[in-house]
Amino acid sequence: MSILSPSRPVLSLFDGKVCKTCGLWLPFGGFHAHPRYAGGYRPHCRKCRYQNEREQANAYRSRPEVVEKNRARDYERYWSNPEHHRQRRRDWAARNPDKARAQNYTERHLAALRAYAETEEGRKARRETQKRYRQSEHGKVQVCINEHLRRASGKVTPGEWLAILAAYERTCAYCGDAAETLWMDHVLPVARGGLTVRENIVPACPPCNRRKQDNLWTPRPPKGQE
Ligand SMILES: [Zn+2]
Ligand SMILES: [Zn+2]
Repeated sequence: MSILSPSRPVLSLFDGKVCKTCGLWLPFGGFHAHPRYAGGYRPHCRKCRYQNEREQANAYRSRPEVVEKNRARDYERYWSNPEHHRQRRRDWAARNPDKARAQNYTERHLAALRAYAETEEGRKARRETQKRYRQSEHGKVQVCINEHLRRASGKVTPGEWLAILAAYERTCAYCGDAAETLWMDHVLPVARGGLTVRENIVPACPPCNRRKQDNLWTPRPPKGQE
């Protein structure tokens, strides 16, 4: 014990040693004890050792073959019991709503769009990007897909419907009844992949429409095409 600091024992040079990595002198408490090393402590201080281990582990984990192996393992694990892992994910999201929101792709995407829409410059940049995308090979395909989805989700214009009614002289395409109410009937039912497009729509009286359900009936050809 020193006279200058009676509460604390003063360490002598022999109560510690120099770390081989960072070169600092530290008391032995700063080293891991290990009987195989001279003096009974490892040559690198605890901090350097942890850092070294972390670096090695990261280097190992980022090796391509290890990345691939881990990905395959996670995939196996997930699909061996998908519902279990989905539930775990939902539980985690319930416990960490903020983190879950930050990871949500749609949320992030919408936030980015909002940021763009705030300035005229951003809006202009966005229009340019969209134009470039539509002209790219991928974009051309996407335009086709969007058009298909638009048609599939049900867009027969009022003009098209009036033309269909006129072609059938406002009669049911199945029984020929001039019913007061005629419904749009999908020749190939929606349940079987039929689209709401002009070519797939005929007028049907309510009784025929109800009886037809998801069956395939052949409609009469429209007037002038018998
Ligand atoms: Zn060190
Ligand atoms: Zn009918």
